[in-house]
This record gives sequence, C-alpha cells and structure tokens, in this order.
Amino acid sequence: MAKLKLEYIWLDGYTPIANLRSKTKIVEGDPAKFALDDVPVWGFDGSSTQQAEGRSSDCLLKPVALYPDATRKNGFLVMSEVLLPDGTPHPTNTRATILDDADTWFGFEQEYFFFKNGRPLGFPAEGFPPPQGRYYTGVGYKNVGDLARQLVEEHLDLCIHAGINHEGINAEVAKGQWEFQIFGKGSKTAADEMWVARYILERLGEKYGIDVEWTCKPIRGDWNGSGMHSNFSTKFMREKGGKEYFEKLMDAFRKHHDEHIAVYGPDNHLRLTGLHETQSIDKFSYGLADRGSSIRIPHSFVNSAYKGYLEDRRPNSAADPYLVASRILKTIATVPTS
Ligand code: ADP
Ligand code: MN
Ligand code: MN
Ligand code: MN
Ligand code: MN
Repeated sequence: MAKLKLEYIWLDGYTPIANLRSKTKIVEGDPAKFALDDVPVWGFDGSSTQQAEGRSSDCLLKPVALYPDATRKNGFLVMSEVLLPDGTPHPTNTRATILDDADTWFGFEQEYFFFKNGRPLGFPAEGFPPPQGRYYTGVGYKNVGDLARQLVEEHLDLCIHAGINHEGINAEVAKGQWEFQIFGKGSKTAADEMWVARYILERLGEKYGIDVEWTCKPIRGDWNGSGMHSNFSTKFMREKGGKEYFEKLMDAFRKHHDEHIAVYGPDNHLRLTGLHETQSIDKFSYGLADRGSSIRIPHSFVNSAYKGYLEDRRPNSAADPYLVASRILKTIATVPTS
C-alpha cells in the first residue's frame, strides 16, 4: 500500500468558457492495481466556482476516467463530472448531455497559442514577426522559437504516459500556434481525453511562465485563428454509409447549423470569416477536400462509396468537446438509417 495522490479535475461554471479546476485527495492504495472503481466520490465548494450559492454550496465530484500522472510519485488524474447534492447532473455538467455514444468515434484537432507576457510566444515585444508562411510545420529557431517545441514534446510525453490517445502534433500557421490531435472510440472517451490533455498543457505552462490561449482569434488581422476540427463517424457511417444517407445527413446539419454554432465556441464570428481556411459563420457548406467549407469530406470517404468519417471544421479552439460531441450526435439521431 502507498499514499496515492488523486488530482480530481472538473469544469467550473464560468461562461462562455468554463475553466479547468482541480484539487488533490490522498488515499491509500496499490498504485499498480488502482482503478476507476476505487476512486471515491468527492466534493467541493461550488460557491467559489460559479456553481452554487453561498448557503448550500456543496457540489459532488463523480470520477469518470482515471489517468496515471507522470509528474507525481503515485499520482493519478481523475476526470470528474459535477453533480448536485442529490446525485443528479449539475446544470454545468455538459458531459452528462452526451446520450448515446457507444460506437461513435471522434478525432479532435486542438489548435492553440502559447502566450508569454500577453503576446504569442515568439512575437517581438512590439510589432509583429514576419508574416505567416513558414511557421506551419516549420523547423528552425526563426520559425518556432526556443521554447515551444520543448513544451510540446513534454506535453506529448505526459499525455502518452497518461494513456491519452494522441495521434499527432504539428506547428500551426501562426507563430506561437500549435496543434495536437486526439482520437477516441466513444465520444465521451475522446472528449475526456481532450479535457485532460488541455489540463496537462496548462499545468505544464506554469513551470515555464507560459499560458495557453484557447480563444479562437487572439490576434486580429492576417493571422490564423484556432479551431478544434471535429472528425466523427458512427458505426453506420463506417460500415454502410452511402451517398443517399450522406446527403440526408448534410441536410440535417444544414437545418441545425445555428444550434451547432451555438455550442461551437465563443466569438466564432471572428474566426469563421471565409478567410484563413474557414467558411463564413452564417453559411453552411460541404465539399470534397475543401478546407473552405463547414464540413470537409475526406477523399477516403468518397473513394469508399461514402463510408467513413467527416470533418466538421466549425468548432473553435475554446469549444467544449462534450457539447460538440453531444450536438453532433443529436443531429445524427434525426436522420433515419433506412
Ligand atoms: P487535417 O489536419 O488534414 O484535417 P488531421 O490528421 O490533423 O487532419 O486530423 C484528422 C483526424 O481524423 C485525426 O484526429 C483522426 O484521428 C481522425 N479520424 C480518422 N479516422 C476517423 C474515423 N473513422 N472516425 C473519426 N475520426 C477519425
Ligand atoms: Mn477547506
Ligand atoms: Mn490537423
Ligand atoms: Mn490545424
Ligand atoms: Mn482538420
């Protein structure tokens, strides 16, 4: 037996962007055998996180996923849902809005900026660095600076150690902008891993005096915004699909465009302008390999008789992956499969 350090992580009640919160509970256990079922329900003071009034302020933390924490001896990260004292989901618990997700696969592409002293990492103290062009997948000090790659590499190792299913990383179009991709079978699994990967990155930044900027358009002008492209496939899409189903699905996505945009992250009008590889926020479109559309159809999809996954390019970097997955599943559910 050992003293295990459990870091419970949850989303607070701030709008329009919830913040990650966490605190540590020490329990006795065998680190080699410790499992989600062994993690106790816990609680916190919701009056300090915009989740309760002062008088009756207890909220519950229900553990939903467990990850080894390489930064701590006998440490674990515990992703948690927030519950009301009676055990029902708290109104801020967006994870609980995901209804049926067993066979849906999600791949999220998270873009973000590193910020130092209120400026993107690598920007001069005043003015701007050379315009975009060589930063995307770039190499060399003048393109990526001296610290970013170290952070990105450490983040990758911490996530892999935690069992988070990273699929890749790359430097992005703007200076100081990066991306990582997470793929999961089951929308809750993918979204849990995305939130925990965000947590690990923010915590890592503390060590270097660097913040992670999740908002979608931190620099105005001719600088790319940040998205969280959401690639999705259901069992039906992977195994049956077909052109007719695909067109019905796209009709449903067009019909519910506004409801999607409503949960695809704040200030998305600043990013979805029709420029910088985006479609305008008030238009819905889809296209083969078209990075200027709302939904991009991969070549592989058409080549395999409209089977496979689709890429929704509208969600932005600050979007809540629980809400994105939940909305996509709701729209899919409106389309009959026969
Ligand atoms: P791009 O930058 O060209 O849009 P990425 O390689 O960054 O492409 O992201 C593609 C994403 O699609 C990956 O995260 C991958 O996991 C995801 N993906 C691949 N196959 C599927 C599938 N069948 N269902 C859902 N997502 C998928
Ligand atoms: Mn206390
Ligand atoms: Mn990508
Ligand atoms: Mn990208
Ligand atoms: Mn993409």
